[in-house]
Amino acid sequence: MGGGPESGAMPHVQTTSRNGAGVGLGFSVLFAVVFVVTSTVTRRIELSGAGFSQLWPAGGLPVLWLLLRQGRGPVVDSVLVLCAAFAANLIAGSDAAIAMAFAVANLVQSWLAVLLLRRWCPETWGCGGDRPLDTPRTVARFGAALAVSMAVGTALASVGAVLLPGAGDAFDPVASGLWFGRNLGSALIVVALGIMIFQRVTSPRPWPPLRGVDGGPSELLVATLFTIFMYGLAFSLDDLPLAFPLLAATVWYAARFSTLLSAAHSFVVGLATMMLTLQGVGPFARVDDPDVGFMIAQFYIATIALTGLAIATGRDERQALADDLRRAQEATAYEGSVRAAVIGSMTEGVLVVDERGDLLVHNEAAARVLGVGDELSTDTRFSLSSWTLDGVEMELHERPTARALRGERVENELMVVQVDGVGERVLTVSAIPLPRDERQGRTRALVLLRDTTNEHASRQELSAFAGVVAHDLRNPLAAIDGWTEMIADELDNGALDAQLAREFVSRVRSSSRRMRELIRDLLAHATSSSRDLEVGRVDVTAMVEEIVVARNAQAFVSVDAVPPVLADPVLVRQVLDNLVGNALKYVEPGEDPKISVHGCRSDARLVTIGVTDHGIGIPEEERERVFEEFHRAHYREYEGSGLGLSIVRRIVNRHGGTIEALPNPAGRGSVFRFTLPAFEA
Ligand code: ADP
Repeated sequence: MGGGPESGAMPHVQTTSRNGAGVGLGFSVLFAVVFVVTSTVTRRIELSGAGFSQLWPAGGLPVLWLLLRQGRGPVVDSVLVLCAAFAANLIAGSDAAIAMAFAVANLVQSWLAVLLLRRWCPETWGCGGDRPLDTPRTVARFGAALAVSMAVGTALASVGAVLLPGAGDAFDPVASGLWFGRNLGSALIVVALGIMIFQRVTSPRPWPPLRGVDGGPSELLVATLFTIFMYGLAFSLDDLPLAFPLLAATVWYAARFSTLLSAAHSFVVGLATMMLTLQGVGPFARVDDPDVGFMIAQFYIATIALTGLAIATGRDERQALADDLRRAQEATAYEGSVRAAVIGSMTEGVLVVDERGDLLVHNEAAARVLGVGDELSTDTRFSLSSWTLDGVEMELHERPTARALRGERVENELMVVQVDGVGERVLTVSAIPLPRDERQGRTRALVLLRDTTNEHASRQELSAFAGVVAHDLRNPLAAIDGWTEMIADELDNGALDAQLAREFVSRVRSSSRRMRELIRDLLAHATSSSRDLEVGRVDVTAMVEEIVVARNAQAFVSVDAVPPVLADPVLVRQVLDNLVGNALKYVEPGEDPKISVHGCRSDARLVTIGVTDHGIGIPEEERERVFEEFHRAHYREYEGSGLGLSIVRRIVNRHGGTIEALPNPAGRGSVFRFTLPAFEA
């Protein structure tokens, strides 16, 4: 019977069985009646000289009865047991004194059996626990408790019979053996069967299948037919006392069906054996002395009861272990799949390595971060060269993995790695020591990797940017401070003349204008990268014309028809305004600017736009650098933030285009040529 391990793990079952086990007084009365009735029914026709009841299975009934009562009303139960046993023995033909002595012996052995069972099988239902008889070890203790108590009862009965007048000397060793065998055989079967039936009835549903898990219904039928056939044969062959093949039926039942069914089988064949032997039929009745034959039958029954229980519970125990193992394997497999799914879905690279350098676990992200595609292997770690951020090459033992393997916890450390064929990457690495793998005797470490190359670059860019911004904002501020201080000094001296005041104020205003422009450019710079592109048709010609009008520069700028582009109009306006503004600004002092804006479809997808001026031009070595943030080629003579062209390039790049600065082929000045996606109608 399965269910042992599960029910053992459920404490509430205990209560259920206890409540169920402590049956009421009605049960005691019922037991007493059954005791007396079975005693009468199974009364031996030819009484042995001992003159005690050979009743069976009533021998085990008092033990089951007291077990089920769980110590409720022990005095009443004792009196009832005593009366029932006394009556049974009287019916069996004992005289009153002997019947009383046997009844006392019966009562004592029953109480002793209950005490020993509670002590030795506390986990078993009815004995304090909630389990059926489900392990060979419990069965051994169960058998021992019954054997010891029955032996004590036998000794008491023997002494009583010898001392009391009436029993005479007829109470010989065979009679003692009969008493012992009768009680042990029936106790083994009746108590075991009773415990298992009550355990099953009181345990929570669904109950495990009564048949057990191995044998099917057809096998049950065949096994039953086999039993009937074997017993029929053994009990009908008068000349051949063949008892041992009968064991095969018990073994079959015990090996293939539930313990409960097997115990029921033992009960039925035991009962049949007893009844037939009482009638003088069968192999056990072949012995000359019917008492000895009867005794052999009793021990045969005890043997099949124990054999059946031992085999069935051994099978149950194996089954329970196999179930546990299967459940554990299923749980492990499930946990494994969850772990794999979790690790696989992480965007952080995860590696588990051991001290020998073997790569035990890795996810796709790790392979991606290390830039090795699917070929992440144990060797990858050693083929990577790594540096600290300061550019110092890291030895193997200094790397985070090695440190974690030595027990150190490394958190969010930046390092640079270089994989063959892939550029440098800045990784943020955490490495954590894992519990040692005791089976292989190796230390393991968990390594988490994040590719922070871009973050690192933008952080560095940001800090450089912040440095320049601070510097460029401080200059006009210092100028404002200086000029206002001078105004204050002059006022203190009471000699601020109007001309001078105008001069100072105009410088202050010019400084504050520079600051305003810088702040405006900084904002534009931020927008150029953070704004979400909202592309649409942009009429470049019309847009340039608007800009020129806004700058009041109609006299200096000519615009050709430029094909429409597909771009974000707000950002394209920023591009054109910056380029036209620069073209108007970078001219020789006193000279008029002369600018043309033109464009054409350069290929199927792109429109190339040019802004040509005749201004001062850009020295060749500066033509690339003017697109860097804050880089200014003519910083002395002209005011500016150095951000305009970097904004322009960023916007053009975000649209998938390119920009370059070229000398004007028509002589002095420059051409800024850039591409944007063409608008298809
Ligand atoms: P800013 O104009 O504020 O200095 P920009 O990023 O717009 O910053 O330009 C960077 C530098 O490129 C300018 O300082 C200037 O030296 C040079 N430059 C830009 N446009 C022109 C042009 N049309 N002609 C000559 N030099 C230019």
